[in-house]
Amino acid sequence: MKSRRNFLQKLTLSAVSLPLVSSLQAKDAHFWADSADYQGPVLRVAIMGLGSYGTRVAEAMKDCKKAKLVGVISGTPSKITEWQSKYNIPEKNCYNYENFDAIKDNPDIDAVYVITPNSLHKDQVIRVAQAGKHAICEKPMGLNAKEGREMIEACKKANVHLLVGYRMHFEANTLEIIRMRNEGELGKVLFFQGLSGFKIGDPTQWRLNKELAGGGSMMDIGIYSVNGARYMVGEEPIWVTAQETKTDPVKFKEGVDETIQFQFGFPGGAVASCLSTYSMGNLDRFFLNGDKGYAELQPSTGYGPIKGRTHKGPLEKPHVTHQTVQMDEMSDIILAGKKPQVPVDGEEGLKDLIIIDAIYKAVKTGKKVPLKIV
Ligand code: NAD
Repeated sequence: MKSRRNFLQKLTLSAVSLPLVSSLQAKDAHFWADSADYQGPVLRVAIMGLGSYGTRVAEAMKDCKKAKLVGVISGTPSKITEWQSKYNIPEKNCYNYENFDAIKDNPDIDAVYVITPNSLHKDQVIRVAQAGKHAICEKPMGLNAKEGREMIEACKKANVHLLVGYRMHFEANTLEIIRMRNEGELGKVLFFQGLSGFKIGDPTQWRLNKELAGGGSMMDIGIYSVNGARYMVGEEPIWVTAQETKTDPVKFKEGVDETIQFQFGFPGGAVASCLSTYSMGNLDRFFLNGDKGYAELQPSTGYGPIKGRTHKGPLEKPHVTHQTVQMDEMSDIILAGKKPQVPVDGEEGLKDLIIIDAIYKAVKTGKKVPLKIV
């Protein structure tokens, strides 16, 4: 009843005082849903970068209750037309990479989800923030910690949220392991193993171009083991060691890592041993060992269903499309101030970038790199 009244109030407001509504920042004037299964604010999202993952997010958002795809930003006019008819996107919510700063004058878009090649994230997120819109950014948030800090600073200055597309932070089996660990069911955590890799195809793709990817497998898939080690162990690493292996220097050029093995030490005494690779398939596994029990996820970070088991038996949490849950949860974070169980904010993205910087440094120097992540 209360939200229906709110909804009607919004309607009345928009009918009698349009100039007032359009002068408000979109983040202050929420669009409300008033359907049988959800009554409340809806995050209106524009996707920037209509590639393969952007398409996956758009499809998943069809099932969102609290988030809605309302706009696109793309450099390819034919894709814009295709998305307009597929997702019912009005012309006034379509932009390209040159003109998207004008989104600041569009009260019908609350947030922009940046899903472009890695090296573009920093400047694009900063422009989104300067346009007064919340930014959701794909992983890796930037190319290094310096970029990450600049992005956080710009979003703080513009008073908008910066969230990173860490979809596993909302996955039910993953969260169940975190619950078990927090409640002491695994005992003292002593070891984590993270294996993240796939066989990469087309040698001409941006993922194998240092300028666009910022590195190789570590930036793209190894980051899942970096991030996973942190949320599975529940602590921040205090040192890193790492070694690189390259079997195909033609495909994996200078600065594009093919395989990196890396190790972390944690303040509580746990150690982690991880692998990031572009040269092996069937490599998507997390294993956490404590002195009272263990937890295993395999697959651990693919699009699912995620399969898990612990010393107590199989994990049976049902599969829900990750990006649907993620976008509904991100709507709650941005519009309702919800605190997620595992953070997905810019600071969280920055922590992974600090660690990745240290991994590359450890590869280069062959030395153990100490870390201080607060
Ligand atoms: P993709 O190549 O399929 O799509 C990238 C899009 O960016 C394309 O539409 C392309 O046209 C556009 N683009 C804009 N400027 C470009 C430029 N200068 N060069 C090349 N392309 C340009 O890539 P993707 O798989 O969709 O990955 C995009 C981002 O999403 C990456 O940061 C990646 O790490 C991330 N990603 C995340 C997940 C996840 O599960 N969270 C999964 C896949 C990709």
